[in-house]
Amino acid sequence: MCRGDAVIDVRRHNANFCEEHFLRLCRDQVAKAIKDASMLEPDDRVLVAVSGGKDSLALWDLLVALGYQVDGLYLGLGIGGYSDASGEHARRFAAERGLHLREVDLRADEGFDVPTAAEATRRVPCSACGLSKRHLFDRAALEGGYDALATGHNLDDEAAVLLGNVLRWQDDALGRQRPVLEARPGFPRKVKPLVRLGERETAAYCVLRGIDYQVEECPMAAGNRHLGLKEALNAMERGSPGTKHAFYHGFLDRAVDRFAPGEDDSPVALGACDRCGAPTTGEVCAYCRVAERAREAEPVALGPTRRTR
Ligand code: SF4
Ligand code: ZN
Repeated sequence: MCRGDAVIDVRRHNANFCEEHFLRLCRDQVAKAIKDASMLEPDDRVLVAVSGGKDSLALWDLLVALGYQVDGLYLGLGIGGYSDASGEHARRFAAERGLHLREVDLRADEGFDVPTAAEATRRVPCSACGLSKRHLFDRAALEGGYDALATGHNLDDEAAVLLGNVLRWQDDALGRQRPVLEARPGFPRKVKPLVRLGERETAAYCVLRGIDYQVEECPMAAGNRHLGLKEALNAMERGSPGTKHAFYHGFLDRAVDRFAPGEDDSPVALGACDRCGAPTTGEVCAYCRVAERAREAEPVALGPTRRTR
């Protein structure tokens, strides 16, 4: 792009970038993702789900740089020292930039934590955790009157989820694997503006922007099947740069509509949860069932956090 010193090579773009042009590339890719999928209007109020990791903090920074009104929401999952450190990263990021961070603490506000919920319900931790995150992020976005809930899912995440869904031909999940899901009763609009950036790029973005993010890996991630799918895709990407982008964006361009109906056309009518009022097919929603069992259980103690990368 210029004669400046290169700070990163992006093999799928077959180019090296200096700091200025790499940061511009990241902003341009996010702006293009938002425009192509009509994710946001310029004056939308956006709530970003913030974990304290590189993707969500890069997303918050990028959306602010693009001129959106953005608040963050940090959810304390109660996963030992990992959660304590993650919260610190999110709070420091917001405080240093004068941004508004909302917080929900599972243990203090909801009466349980992720390790206890997983143990009490015999679910894998990521299942209990994902269920809780979806419910509480949706609730916060609706109660706060936000126009959209943005999450930091990047190209690596979406390509891995797509591979898993294709391998088992999960039609419903494939139909929902869009970078924007429109609002419907009981659910906010959900957007994924990082789908054109890989995780190596969000990490580099954070380093260049001086964003201090959580580098520890969640101690409960073991057994998450997406890790194996990511490794498989990384091996393919090494041999053929651009594979992940072609796979995921080719699916959006050519195939996702074959897996409609979207959630609006679901043949199953949704009622309101007896406990919390959230949409559900039964009398009590899955979140309230998990939360009730976890509140009755003895809290689980976690060991120290391990450093893996
Ligand atoms: Fe939750 Fe699993 Fe992510 Fe840990 S790795 S924060 S348990 S979804
Ligand atoms: Zn409920």
